[in-house]
Amino acid sequence: GSALSLLEVRGVAKRYGGLAALDGCSLTLETGRITGLIGPNGAGKTTLLNVMTGLVRPDEGRVLLSGRDVTAAAPHRFAALGVARTFQIVRELGSLTVFENLLLAPRRQSGEGVVASLFGRRKWWAEESANALKAKALLERVGLYKLADQQSGGLSGGQKKLLDLARALLLEPRLILLDEPGAGVSPPLKLEMIRLVRELNAEGVSFGLVEHDMHLVGELCDHVHVMAEGRLLVSGTFGDVVKDRRVVEAYLGVA
Ligand code: ATP
Repeated sequence: GSALSLLEVRGVAKRYGGLAALDGCSLTLETGRITGLIGPNGAGKTTLLNVMTGLVRPDEGRVLLSGRDVTAAAPHRFAALGVARTFQIVRELGSLTVFENLLLAPRRQSGEGVVASLFGRRKWWAEESANALKAKALLERVGLYKLADQQSGGLSGGQKKLLDLARALLLEPRLILLDEPGAGVSPPLKLEMIRLVRELNAEGVSFGLVEHDMHLVGELCDHVHVMAEGRLLVSGTFGDVVKDRRVVEAYLGVA
């Protein structure tokens, strides 16, 4: 790959029974960029994010992180190498507070039992460990500080997405893969999400953005990969790809 290649997939395939979720997908996320990953429903975008974070191991093909082969690496390895992600449906524990969800995130990522961690529940808020201080600073950053001791189950869709972003940031990643950060998010929080992603990008964090909301993609991405049927269809600037005949046809379902 090029010198700018941060995360690259080459010829990646993943089959579920007779269905090819990914079918020879090759594309690159470049250092410093916010790269859009778009395409019609079922194109393989979420499966690709799973492959790019070690949650799904491809049947064929390779995953390269800064040129190093990480195809068979486990999720915690991707995390340790600076690749974080958010989820289409945020995985939070609704009965825990916002702060607890964040504080326990690294323990959950490392496979430590949450129940065990909560046994003899301590006054997490009073904790002054490095992680607790970092978690508080991140809640401030994403605008959730005032909600820190509320149960996360009561958060709005957008607030959950911001909590998920804060969780990703705990890793101090160099690349964050966002899975539909705009889905189910109110317009003001969508603006907040855009502002944060731009700010983080200016600080040097690269992004891969899976999103159906074309306004969000246009606002954030200079470069976009369009996927269809498990592989790359077209790459280019946002302005170019949305006009591309093949892209329009893929979205309309024209064979
Ligand atoms: P959307 O935009 O609707 O989220 P997508 O582009 O993210 O779609 P994927 O979720 O990656 O697409 O799914 C690609 C195809 O693979 C779909 O047909 C889906 O049903 C199938 N698929 C994905 N994961 C699994 C799985 N674990 N088991 C069986 N089929 C799966």
